[in-house]
Amino acid sequence: MQFAINISYIVAAILFVFGIKMLGSATTAVKGNRISSLGMLLAVVATLARSDLGYEWIAGGILSGAIIGFIAAKRVQMTGMPELVALFNGFGGLASLLVGWAEYEKARPDWSAYLQLDENNAVPAPWFSAIVIVLAIVIGGITFTGSIVAYLKLSGKIGGTATVFPGQKALNLLVMVGLVAVGALFSITVEGINAQFLFLTTVALSLLIGMLGVMPIGGGDMPVVIALLNSFSGLAAAAAGFVISNTVLVVAGCLVGASGLILTVIMCKAMNRTLGNVLFGGFGATSGGGGKQVEGEMKGISVEDAYYVLEAAQSVVFVPGYGMAVAQAQHAVKELAEILERNGAEVRHAVHPVAGRMPGHMNVLLAEADVAYEQLCEMDDVNAIISTVDVAIVIGANDVVNPSAVDDESSPIYGMPIINVHQAKTVFALKRGQGAGFSGLVNTLFFRDNCRMIYGDAKATVSGLVSQFDE
Ligand code: NDP
Repeated sequence: MQFAINISYIVAAILFVFGIKMLGSATTAVKGNRISSLGMLLAVVATLARSDLGYEWIAGGILSGAIIGFIAAKRVQMTGMPELVALFNGFGGLASLLVGWAEYEKARPDWSAYLQLDENNAVPAPWFSAIVIVLAIVIGGITFTGSIVAYLKLSGKIGGTATVFPGQKALNLLVMVGLVAVGALFSITVEGINAQFLFLTTVALSLLIGMLGVMPIGGGDMPVVIALLNSFSGLAAAAAGFVISNTVLVVAGCLVGASGLILTVIMCKAMNRTLGNVLFGGFGATSGGGGKQVEGEMKGISVEDAYYVLEAAQSVVFVPGYGMAVAQAQHAVKELAEILERNGAEVRHAVHPVAGRMPGHMNVLLAEADVAYEQLCEMDDVNAIISTVDVAIVIGANDVVNPSAVDDESSPIYGMPIINVHQAKTVFALKRGQGAGFSGLVNTLFFRDNCRMIYGDAKATVSGLVSQFDE
């Protein structure tokens, strides 16, 4: 039976790898998702075939998890998805922490008997088992509390800005050094008299450092944190896989860990920041702070007048942002894009890598509205032709089109790549009022001579433009 389980694990791992590879292209992504799910089903069935399980506990876990997951998924708004992802990461971390803790409790009364339990008859050194338990605890604990803080920040339950205080970096460093020291001490003295105290201190410090680590990160850096915590949740699962000698958990955990890390690097590049700067820079500590004083005023335009400009436009670029998700304007945007195309304009949708509140947020919305993939444009491609574009329509985007990132060295977002809509001949910025973006910074785009504000809910405004064409 063990042989059949191991073979199933290998097949499952292969299916994961192929599935993830296929997620790399929009045309094969759906199939890739199904292949990976099939791999997961196989891994679950193979694991359940083990003879030494308490099925009543597993059934209870599956049932309660499924009910909570079903209700959460039904209730969540599209705009609340990033918070939910943050919570999922956190619970993944908590699960790994609990696995590590449960194994410690199993081993505590008699480590030598515990080590004899190893199925392969190769008795590992006590310190090896202790180290993997510590890793599951530390990475799981950091992921858990770090994700809870990210969740609270993203959902607005606590302030989204970076919380910094004097001596914070020194404190974090101290807790980190303490954690490494206590974890190492526990690993070499697993059976010693103070082992349990060292273990519990490791748990406590892990939970503390996760919280302290995410508190000073704010504003525009949250996407990177989410991707990094996602990677951590994978590493925590891999550590838990070592703890319970489960190969497929190690493989799946490493895949999540690696892909989360790749995503983290991509996000850092999209914001022109190093990971160190994101984690320790305290960006966005003061809401709306930094940057030059803006002169001039925002100029509004009515939907009727905007229609005349669009009617004559030969090329139009839509730049969606978080406001499109709030307004759920994607279907109206698709309708307007089709009308403009029929009217003879060349239409593109330019998607910034960190637009919205989660990686791929805008792509998901536009795909839901059936916008053709050929019309989606990457930031660099659209920037290459933006000066020839007649009208750029900014749909509830703000930070990702803020020209301060390219022309104001004193701005906190200076150096972050943006979609250069300010270089288009005309810009229509659709937003409800004069609210700032996620970073809290003033957007100088809205004060430029070539920019006109169309105030109101983005869906109502776009639908208004559609009606003008219909009349
Ligand atoms: P922003 O958050 O910068 O701006 C969104 C704008 O939408 C606001 O200025 C708001 O203005 C407007 N808005 C809100 N509701 C509506 C509505 N119903 N109709 C019309 N407009 C509306 O969005 P961006 O997409 O430009 O930038 C994303 C930001 O979020 C970046 O700073 C990014 O770093 C950060 N982030 C990204 C994540 C990701 O993974 N993509 C995750 C977490 C954060 P007003 O109130 O005046 O209407």
